[in-house]
Amino acid sequence: MNLRHALPLFLVLLVCALKQTAANSSERWFKGNTHTHTLWSDGNDFPETAADWYKSKGYDFLVLSDHNVLQRGARWKDVSKHERENKVVSKHRERWGKNGLEIRTRDGKTQVRLKTLEEIRRQFEEPGSFIMIEGFELTASAGRIEKKREFPVHSNAINIERLFVPQAKGSVHEMLEHQADLLHSHTVGKREEVFWHLNHPNFHYAVTAEIMAAAPDIDGVEIFNASTGCKSLGDEHVPSVERIWDIANTLRIKKHKLPPIFGCATDDTHNYHTPEEHYHSDKELKNAPGLAWVMVRSDSLDKDSITSAMRQGDFYSSTGITLRRLEYDEEKRELSLEVDPQPDRNYQIRFIGSPIDISLDHTMPKPFRDWKRVMRPMSGIYADERLGGVLKTVDGTKASYRLNGSELFVRAVVSCDAPNLPLIDAGPIPCMAWTQPVGWEKSLRGEK
Ligand SMILES: [Zn+2]
Ligand SMILES: [Zn+2]
Repeated sequence: MNLRHALPLFLVLLVCALKQTAANSSERWFKGNTHTHTLWSDGNDFPETAADWYKSKGYDFLVLSDHNVLQRGARWKDVSKHERENKVVSKHRERWGKNGLEIRTRDGKTQVRLKTLEEIRRQFEEPGSFIMIEGFELTASAGRIEKKREFPVHSNAINIERLFVPQAKGSVHEMLEHQADLLHSHTVGKREEVFWHLNHPNFHYAVTAEIMAAAPDIDGVEIFNASTGCKSLGDEHVPSVERIWDIANTLRIKKHKLPPIFGCATDDTHNYHTPEEHYHSDKELKNAPGLAWVMVRSDSLDKDSITSAMRQGDFYSSTGITLRRLEYDEEKRELSLEVDPQPDRNYQIRFIGSPIDISLDHTMPKPFRDWKRVMRPMSGIYADERLGGVLKTVDGTKASYRLNGSELFVRAVVSCDAPNLPLIDAGPIPCMAWTQPVGWEKSLRGEK
């Protein structure tokens, strides 16, 4: 472990131990999406359309995370393609009136000025009910440098006020180190309020469990990203990201003596033109909003409180399930939760973990050659079946698990049998909620 991480780790352990003991009565759950694109990069509508969509659907916070750009300064954009495809200007006028956009002509092209985050904040933020948190998607590729997208290593820096653009690197490992160094040098004195999540590890098979396990600064990883090509549920070559997450966390705690990475669910929205009736039909949704989100526990809806709570793991991820209660009692070492059920649905709660005496014996599968003839390294195959094993299953809406000292970490996952699930490229999105790993502080300190 690098010395630079020793103090933050101590603080994280201390804060988690205090935080998870009992929920404070003034705390509330806030719903948010931390991965959203707009016309500032490759999203297909204006930032105000994104803010309007999420606010009107009851979200409490939103991060516009465009590729390598913050929504600052004057930015004029030719939107003729978007007007042709999706009538973005016409729809904007319908929604906000004739004078809602600043338009100019340059070299025979019509350009629209994109609103800055400050303008979006003035238009949409409401104290206590909706806020925007500044962020961007660090976007760069590793691998043979001149070949773009060979290993796309993307991550979201959330609650950040300065832009830093990553450069291409020779390997995924180097790229993660490079991004961590950039983040570190641009957040001096403020790192506790910045949440940094690795995005879509299975996108172009870019990031394996072993690489993720060894990257010390990562706070979170997208265990479910609802956009096209992200393979969150795995495919014939790779396991689900949820499985990769368990492998990475087992390796982090047992081998690298690092705290676990927390699991996030996000939309990675690019497309604001999906008809409402497609959400529960046989139509495939492509990069649409409203499919996967996080619920963060905080006593106040402000950017620093939300991101600090996320850094402490005080949130869960969801694709359709809301929890009424979620506690980890540090003294009793008991994780308990209760679902806020919807009528006519059956719920199952599973507790998942790895044991302290887990064997890390594994084989590395041969990399496979993809359609671009690029060799893709795979995560290891671990012989000990107890890695990420199911410790207890409860059919119902309430369950608890008391740790007995043999666990490296434990987390809970809830599933439900909702009908007409939204369809994406990988198939129906399962209706789930994932809580964060608990009980790992003692494992890290070497106590039972
Ligand atoms: Zn991305
Ligand atoms: Zn993205």
